[in-house]
Amino acid sequence: MRHRLARLLVPVALLFVAACDSAPYTERRQLIVIPQRQERAMGERAARDILRTARLSGNAAQNAAVARVGRRIAAASQAPDMDWEFHVLDDDRTANAFCLPGGKVFVYSGLFAVARDDDALATVLAHEVAHALARHGAERATLELGAQLGGAILQLAMGDEDPRLAAIAARIWGYGSNLGVVLPYGRKQEYEADAIGLRLMDKAGYDLEGAVRFWEAMRRADAPKPLWAFVSTHPADDSRLEKIRRDIREIRAAKRRPPGAELPSATPSGGLGG
Ligand SMILES: [Zn+2]
Repeated sequence: MRHRLARLLVPVALLFVAACDSAPYTERRQLIVIPQRQERAMGERAARDILRTARLSGNAAQNAAVARVGRRIAAASQAPDMDWEFHVLDDDRTANAFCLPGGKVFVYSGLFAVARDDDALATVLAHEVAHALARHGAERATLELGAQLGGAILQLAMGDEDPRLAAIAARIWGYGSNLGVVLPYGRKQEYEADAIGLRLMDKAGYDLEGAVRFWEAMRRADAPKPLWAFVSTHPADDSRLEKIRRDIREIRAAKRRPPGAELPSATPSGGLGG
């Protein structure tokens, strides 16, 4: 009897171990059943679609700023297997940005209404790069697959061209017919992207106070209308700003600590729901 149970449980446990991942820097455990190879193939394909159909910005200053800051954040990510690219979409009415799996980052030109210097732009780009590094899209797609398909989840995720997975991915990463309608991440993922993004900003030599200034600007009532797109996917409330300030204090404290001293984990947990 015990043997039969073990025979049943071991493969199930192995599947879960195989599907368990952990986010960089925060070490938060994640359940992701979509293989990285497939996730990246979807990202590549979506990026090609966007580049073929969307209008890219012809603004030389905006393109130069995104290329300049993107290069530094990409270098700080120390992820040689990611194929980082940074593009500006021509849409002044949308202040938002997103990153496809594999590292294709798109910024709407409307973002420049608030991201007025390199520190602010670095805040946004590092945050988006962090979502990709921590595979937040694949994590969310796993949840959606699970919710929709229950037991069929693994089988489906392993199949290469399942249209249901493609549809979920298109909604999550905000491309295809829904381009511009980027689905909001969960609060936990947002806070984690902030925490990882701040570390990348710091490594790349940007001023972390720039992140505080940026998020405070996001919160102001007189913010220009395009901002609403960003705020709808990135709620800039008091607890977010408080968490960002705490992350910054942690980063600074870690730098003052003598080498070899034990580091506290940069955990995004602590009772954050969602
Ligand atoms: Zn985000």
